[in-house]
Amino acid sequence: MATEPKLEIDALFAELTALACISEAKPPVVTRVVFSEADLRARAYVKGLCADAGLAVHEDAIGNTFARWQGAMPELAPVGTGSHIDAIPNAGSYDGTVGVLGGLEAIRALQRAGFRPRRSIELVIFTAEEPTRFGIGCLGSRMMGHVLTPAAALALRDKQGNGLEELRSQAGFAGALETVALPAGRFHQFVELHIEQGPLLEQEGIDLGLVTHIAAPASLRINIEGEGGHAGGKLMPGRKDALAAAAELILALESAAKSTGAIDTVGTVGVCEVFPGAVNSIPSRVRLETDVRDTDGARRDSVLDALHGACADVAQRRGVTITTELVNADPPAFCDPAILAAMEASAAEAGRSAKRMVSRAYHDSLFMTRIAPVAMLFIPCRGGVSHRPDEYASPEWIAGGVDVLARTLAKLTG
Ligand SMILES: [Zn+2]
Repeated sequence: MATEPKLEIDALFAELTALACISEAKPPVVTRVVFSEADLRARAYVKGLCADAGLAVHEDAIGNTFARWQGAMPELAPVGTGSHIDAIPNAGSYDGTVGVLGGLEAIRALQRAGFRPRRSIELVIFTAEEPTRFGIGCLGSRMMGHVLTPAAALALRDKQGNGLEELRSQAGFAGALETVALPAGRFHQFVELHIEQGPLLEQEGIDLGLVTHIAAPASLRINIEGEGGHAGGKLMPGRKDALAAAAELILALESAAKSTGAIDTVGTVGVCEVFPGAVNSIPSRVRLETDVRDTDGARRDSVLDALHGACADVAQRRGVTITTELVNADPPAFCDPAILAAMEASAAEAGRSAKRMVSRAYHDSLFMTRIAPVAMLFIPCRGGVSHRPDEYASPEWIAGGVDVLARTLAKLTG
């Protein structure tokens, strides 16, 4: 007979609200940049809840946190679940936190039900999923999954010029960075619960998304050097306007992303910094940050190639200098069929509707696929809104996700 998790959703919702109040901004606005004072207080809050649940907590050299519910056979590799609690500026209450506190509640719901896992279950709180501080997303899981080397991590700087080394030690984390990477097999399997951050589940009235693959993200930084001058004095012939060149590149990316004909190809320019940024001055320098994603790595790379081609063309035609820097280009990830099957069976047992879908946002799970079989479980979020203060997932939606996560963990560890 399948285990029936005993959920306490009101208490979980109260914990999510309490965590949201630990913010650098005035609640309900959540800003919790990694290694900030708010991040450290939030970590302390969550670790306290883990300790209350009888979990053994430890942290690695950059603050990735592991809270273990010991199984009957502790020598077996644990099944992991978890997500992140850092938040971009002006964010909401559910991105990442539903996977952390919901993962903890799944464990507690199994404890209340009298379930005893054979394999241990380990809750993971990843450091710096959001790229706010270091310009690169999923710092903790990238290092765990051997995707970012310790040397590359040490070269990361925040906008104030502070390095990872000083920031992590100020935050109280020490030890060799080499120890952050985990061997394959350290986790038997890993499941991440997360809000969809898109509108499909809510629109279709479906309780759960079973993620089959995670789109491959890439980010290219583009620096354009033109020639400044007085907006009145310098006539149009012979201008080397860096922003006009940037405008061509922005449209070139849009057209390259559309031209694949695939619904899964997306291209965005989310940052455009203009120097000197005065109304009567010709822009001499522009920095663009672009984001290209696809479920097909080769198709994603074809868009990057087209963008590089446009850079060369625009530089030549307009007499500007364009340099590019590939910030990251990660392959897509495929979720594990055995975990998907366990999630599907769990959803049926719980009487919850579910559909298989693609994750177009990327998550720590993308990097966990380097060291373990992984799957993700999505719940709806209102209007598909995320990374905004009005991000919302109802207690009922969260209950569905936690219920199915708990049942899945029971199947994977029983
Ligand atoms: Zn997230």
